[in-house]
Amino acid sequence: MISVPELKKLLSTPQQIVITTHHKPDGDAMGSSLGLYAYLIQKGHHVSLITPTDYPEFLHWLPNNSDVIIYTEQQEKSIALVNEAALIFCLDFNTLSRINELGEHIRNTTAVKLMIDHHLEPEDFDDYRHWDINACAAAQLVYDFIVNVMEEPEKVNKDVATCLYTGIMTDSGSFRFPSATSTVYRIAADLIDLGAEHWRIHQLVYDNVSENRLKFLGYCLSSKLEILREYNTAIISATKEELQQYAIVTGDTEGIVNYALSINGIKLAAFIIERTDRVKLSLRSTGDFPANEICKKYFQGGGHRNAAGGASDKGLQETIAEFKAILPEYKTQLLQ
Ligand code: 5GP
Ligand code: MN
Repeated sequence: MISVPELKKLLSTPQQIVITTHHKPDGDAMGSSLGLYAYLIQKGHHVSLITPTDYPEFLHWLPNNSDVIIYTEQQEKSIALVNEAALIFCLDFNTLSRINELGEHIRNTTAVKLMIDHHLEPEDFDDYRHWDINACAAAQLVYDFIVNVMEEPEKVNKDVATCLYTGIMTDSGSFRFPSATSTVYRIAADLIDLGAEHWRIHQLVYDNVSENRLKFLGYCLSSKLEILREYNTAIISATKEELQQYAIVTGDTEGIVNYALSINGIKLAAFIIERTDRVKLSLRSTGDFPANEICKKYFQGGGHRNAAGGASDKGLQETIAEFKAILPEYKTQLLQ
């Protein structure tokens, strides 16, 4: 473990730094990572941001996005950067399996590993941890890290503010989840004062979808929605062929699960799709219902109580059947 004074000393001279975030990065993964990137480059560090995979187009406008290195596209360079780094920041994840092969390269380096995260049950691979499951976003913790740990509020410039606002906005469901506390609203207000154009950010993230995505959404809602009233559960699923038919790419499926959850009385929503490699599940729930428990227990995954994900090596229909078979176990909670 490294103490805050030791960390401050280390960061007071230029260092080789790698920032990384989880598989298929979302708005918080990219917002927190590029926010930290925009902070660290001001301090003269040599910083590389490596994502394990590609990420949605609607995040490509973020400041410094062109500097991002995608591991699956530049493996050798990524591994060399990890091996040369003195510090590695791990953002918005807390188990190395969430970053695929890159995780083992990081595990095996002697670099100082720093975790900034808000997920449950962190794995013990880090040397420094800024971790709080009550934070609405990793971006909120990056803000706290810069302002209260590093004590450099003056370094939250327009780029940092824009990225962190994006992470907070996306992970808090546009400030509507219980995690969006008054503290989060105060941080958002600070970020707006520091240059985050909240209306523009919202537009760039949410009013920026492809025609295919909108048509696919229409198809899912009209033809692929299954409502199980006896369990207050709704399922939307899609086969590989359906994804191909609408030319669905990374990011196009984001948020579709929320439409299923928006139906009155529905407590649990599942979006189950047949990706090229395996079947992926996205679960969302309301209130106290633990979506993450289902993902952890049955689908090699995890996440938060109300937003969780997992995967299955079985076929799509089999996975849907497996999911349905789990529901009786949770019937009391689902009908509460
Ligand atoms: P999504 O459904 O949008 O992919 O993910 C929702 C939440 O569940 C995110 O907070 C994400 O970190 C978590 N999550 C999604 N997939 C997985 C997974 O395969 N493993 C774990 N541990 N968490 C996941
Ligand atoms: Mn997050």
